[in-house]
Amino acid sequence: MSDFLIHSIKDSIRNIPDFPVKGVQFKDITTVLKMPELFSMIVDQMAAHYANMGITKIVAIESRGFIIGGALAYKLGVGFVPVRKPGKLPAETYTKKYDLEYGTDTLEIHRDALHDQDVVLLHDDLLATGGTSLAAIDLVKQSGVKKIFVSFIVELDFLKGRNRLCPPYEVFSLVHF
Ligand code: AMP
Repeated sequence: MSDFLIHSIKDSIRNIPDFPVKGVQFKDITTVLKMPELFSMIVDQMAAHYANMGITKIVAIESRGFIIGGALAYKLGVGFVPVRKPGKLPAETYTKKYDLEYGTDTLEIHRDALHDQDVVLLHDDLLATGGTSLAAIDLVKQSGVKKIFVSFIVELDFLKGRNRLCPPYEVFSLVHF
């Protein structure tokens, strides 16, 4: 991707200090998503990166992961699988509890969403510490899929979440802070 495009995305992300808690600088991507040329550029760049990797399913994390994840599934012509907060999925689920800085959180996936021949691209909007993605990877692994790739729009390099995922999972992020 050209430097110009990377900078266009980075410059359009809005920084919100002390949200949702004091000390966190929230990267608000709604200011990027509302611009049609940036929205399609993100989808096109991600789709180009994964075009020949044999992806069969996009697995996206609630809720901001659904936005680009859904568009990416359409663009790549593959299925879409949501990873959701507890109690939202109606059929039988696998459940993963994971630690946050304060307390714990839980994610779920439908037990019949994936099978052992799937090649999965796990997508979320942003990689921080990597805890959320690791929990989602654990859920995907329960179905014994063939391979898992992981993608983000934004990666916060200073939190080193990548080191918890890669290896063994290949991580691709469009922009880095
Ligand atoms: P982590 O599990 O620490 O990698 O956090 C990633 C998840 O939390 C993603 O679903 C993000 O949407 C959200 N998140 C964490 N930190 C931020 C941040 N600084 N700005 C926006 N979203 C964040």
